[in-house]
Amino acid sequence: MSNTYTEAARELPVYAECDLLVVGAGAAGQAAAVAAARAGCRNVILMERYGYMGGDVTGGYVIMMPNLSWYNKSFVRGIQEEWFTRLEKRPGSVMAPTLDEIGSTDPALVYRWKAVHDCVSRGTFDGCKESQLVRAPYFEPNELKIILDEMVYELRDRITVMYHTFGARPVVEDNVMKGVIFESKEGRKLIRAKFVIDATGDGDIYSQAGAPWAGLSELGTRSSGTALVWRAGGVNWNKWYEWQNAHPDLVPEIRKALTDIQGFGGFPLPSNNPNICWFNNNHNPMDCTKIEDQTRTEIETRLAIHKVLDYLKRACPYVWGDAYLYDIAPQLGTRCSRRLKGEYVMTANDFAFAKEHDDVIAWHSTICQINDCGPVEIPYRAILPQKIDNLLAPGRHLSTDSVAIDWLNLIPQCTGTGQAAGVAAAVAIADGTGAHSVDIRKVQDILAGEQDVPLPRNSHTDPSYTELAKEKQYGLYTAAAKLAKETGDALAFRQDGAKERRELLEAKLSEH
Ligand SMILES: Cc1cc2nc3c(=O)[nH]c(=O)nc-3n(C[C@H](O)[C@H](O)[C@H](O)COP(=O)(O)OP(=O)(O)OC[C@H]3O[C@@H](n4cnc5c(N)ncnc54)[C@H](O)[C@@H]3O)c2cc1C
Repeated sequence: MSNTYTEAARELPVYAECDLLVVGAGAAGQAAAVAAARAGCRNVILMERYGYMGGDVTGGYVIMMPNLSWYNKSFVRGIQEEWFTRLEKRPGSVMAPTLDEIGSTDPALVYRWKAVHDCVSRGTFDGCKESQLVRAPYFEPNELKIILDEMVYELRDRITVMYHTFGARPVVEDNVMKGVIFESKEGRKLIRAKFVIDATGDGDIYSQAGAPWAGLSELGTRSSGTALVWRAGGVNWNKWYEWQNAHPDLVPEIRKALTDIQGFGGFPLPSNNPNICWFNNNHNPMDCTKIEDQTRTEIETRLAIHKVLDYLKRACPYVWGDAYLYDIAPQLGTRCSRRLKGEYVMTANDFAFAKEHDDVIAWHSTICQINDCGPVEIPYRAILPQKIDNLLAPGRHLSTDSVAIDWLNLIPQCTGTGQAAGVAAAVAIADGTGAHSVDIRKVQDILAGEQDVPLPRNSHTDPSYTELAKEKQYGLYTAAAKLAKETGDALAFRQDGAKERRELLEAKLSEH
């Protein structure tokens, strides 16, 4: 018996026609649709397989984002910062040093924020010895779901949202995108589009359209895993923080015990609510594009939850005695699966040598410690697929190598590249150009001007950003950056454990 089946060809109804179709409404896709509409695109469709926007963020309960600022400047602005200006109006929804406080070294403030992971600079490298406050917001994912709906609903004359629709297959003619076939309870239908943004996070569209991409098999990183995040109530975060400081010798023991109990990594983290702890985790290596790995992640995490709580109640009843399961994220999360091999592939060199790009679309402080988390330029070509036109791919599946992905798939970089993709699509559609021939200066001016995205060498951006980057040498005083310069090898710093993760992954892949 054959193990394949030839499905009969059939006529598909055209459900709609649009200028811009965005597939996936995560951080990248939502930002793309909003930015495109604000930049003048009048007929945008935003297609999403679930019933809410935010993807990993709101559905996967990834409820904090690090390093929106560097020293006293907020680098990650635009739609990303807008989330928080909106959320801050909802009491209890955000916990973060304010924009006025960032860069502060005031000991009282540093003491107040030290308990909250990443709200105070890590200070690991030469130029960053003094602890200072960093914009690293923690937020309530369900409030954010409402905010993301609101932002799109305000533009409802331009954006049509299609929830519960799964983008199944791209339609490509002569290497140009023409639309996407989707599946839903209404069946299989087509949307015709002049321009498509693949914001599925997993390259669902570009991988089938014929654009080159890399698979998980090339990864050996922290990112090559899945997660199912959950939260515990009845625990006071400050009490837990103080207990850990008082018993530093017991913390590694607890960490190890939790890994053993779960069979994967995961330790309590703070949340926006001091009485709720966030259990982020990482099943590594796992591939979120594989049914078996997705299923295992769901079941193994859920079965571990009460074992974890029971253990913590026994190990530290003073803090965990009254703890209970608060909730489980509605969807499985992943940091990376497919990665685009775009017109430019970002690497550690972009960080280690502060590379300048004429087509820069985001200039972000990140979690990369080679350059002391300083601003890195993300070029348009990192979201521009090879071979296929009128298609962009912002978000966690953008074009990086297997190392740089760990610093570029965080929420801010997904929102930032999504916003830029939306503006680029709007400009290309208005001018009648393609994704490869878009007027990038016009895109940069809209981003840096009306859309509040700081960009280097752009007259709309306050010159104090460049002055700061120069004064602080783009963070290239770090030991890792110096080593990179001496050796010409930006990977000389590679983190411990990368080799072991790669070996594990290779062993696992050979089982398939
Ligand atoms: C456990 C975990 C912890 C993390 N920790 C942090 C952290 O602390 N801080 C941080 O900044 N980042 C963190 N990250 C990374 C970050 O959350 C993600 O990389 C980022 O949110 C991805 O955004 P995205 O829009 O590119 O993709 P996604 O959020 O995956 O969005 C893709 C969207 O497309 C939809 N979709 C997918 N396929 C289709 C399809 N075929 N048709 C229609 N819709 C589709 C999905 O439902 C989803 O809504 C973490 C990730 C995980 C999983």
